[in-house]
Amino acid sequence: MDKNFDSNLQKYAELAVRVGVNLRAGQRLIVRAPAPYGLDFELAPLVRHIATAAYKAGARFVDVIWGDEQMELIRFANAPRDSFTEFPKWKLTSVLEYAERGDAVITISATNPDLLEGQDSELVNIFQSTTSKEMYPYLLHGTSNTMNWCVISAARPAWARKMFPKLDEDKAVAELWKVIFQMCRVDQDNPVTAWDAHIKNLHIRSTYLSRKQYTALKYSAPGTDLTVGLPKGHVWNSAREMAKNGIEFVANIPTEETFTLPDRNHADGVVTSTKSLNLGGTLIEGIVVRFANGRAVEAHASKNESALQKLIATDEGASRLGEVAIVPHSSPISKSGLMFHNTLFDENAACHIALGRAYKFSYVGGLELTDEEFLARGGNSSMIHVDFMIGSDKMDIDGITDDGRAEPILRNGEWAFNV
Ligand code: ZN
Ligand code: ZN
Repeated sequence: MDKNFDSNLQKYAELAVRVGVNLRAGQRLIVRAPAPYGLDFELAPLVRHIATAAYKAGARFVDVIWGDEQMELIRFANAPRDSFTEFPKWKLTSVLEYAERGDAVITISATNPDLLEGQDSELVNIFQSTTSKEMYPYLLHGTSNTMNWCVISAARPAWARKMFPKLDEDKAVAELWKVIFQMCRVDQDNPVTAWDAHIKNLHIRSTYLSRKQYTALKYSAPGTDLTVGLPKGHVWNSAREMAKNGIEFVANIPTEETFTLPDRNHADGVVTSTKSLNLGGTLIEGIVVRFANGRAVEAHASKNESALQKLIATDEGASRLGEVAIVPHSSPISKSGLMFHNTLFDENAACHIALGRAYKFSYVGGLELTDEEFLARGGNSSMIHVDFMIGSDKMDIDGITDDGRAEPILRNGEWAFNV
């Protein structure tokens, strides 16, 4: 590791605490991995910097959920086949307790993208759908912003080796950290100031789009010819959001996207993915989905198609869209030319859409609506929310006005309107 590594790691931790969850004095903080895993002890140096930064910011209490992904492999190799619906309640309640109180939550997303590669796909599907079902009450808090939350990432050997297969392990990890620091602006003199400017630029774009109130988006790219309706009252969001506890926070570091919710009943045409999707350890590649009246009526993938179809069959809303997001092709993550196999990065390299649940805050007054009211206004509800990438330097997007005109939003992957 280079000599600046520890100071960069510290700046990264401070960024997650000060800009990410924007922790307020007196708050509690929990640091966790995406369910069902715990944080690998490899991440201890980062977690300890986060805890220090949090206490310095006035945290009352900092908690961590540790774990070991290898335990899942031992389970897949040895546990009874009929036992993969087992899910101990504490995995939910440990984090739910924090969410319900409006405490801060930092999730470190660094799961080995190939962890479950080669495992029985039937068992993997049961394992993943059990996780989605059991963790649903927590997902609800995340998607309705009960608390100030933030997802960051971290370099780990298995992931780094996959990204830089030609380097030996130590060099690959160091290289991945370097890339993470660059993408998260941690290598700049003052990352917090750099983020303030970045957040402001994204905000100008999302404000413009919210004012326009387009009735639909029309996507054109090789393999993609898709029209997605937008409900009246939709709000374009970007980096900074407001939690129900009154604290402004940035949910993803890095983030380059401007996004809103589609009308769950209006998506028509075909869309082709431009990057692979890491679904909790299963890589799905070459996704092609055809939508009619908002519903995915056909879904194919060149790799792990059955995982995609199982995902879409999770529940009624899983076959419908819950997010449309615009990311210019010149975003730093896209420019890096790297494939991260981690949605946190890859979704910020390309325009994406999500199957499943829509964010209520993407609708005017949405956080006050019941599920039924939200549904009636076109918001989607599901146990899942899974993004997949559809953007490239060949993507055009038009906004359709309420008198039917098409206005350019994106041309060849870049913003096509002036603000
Ligand atoms: Zn998104
Ligand atoms: Zn999403």
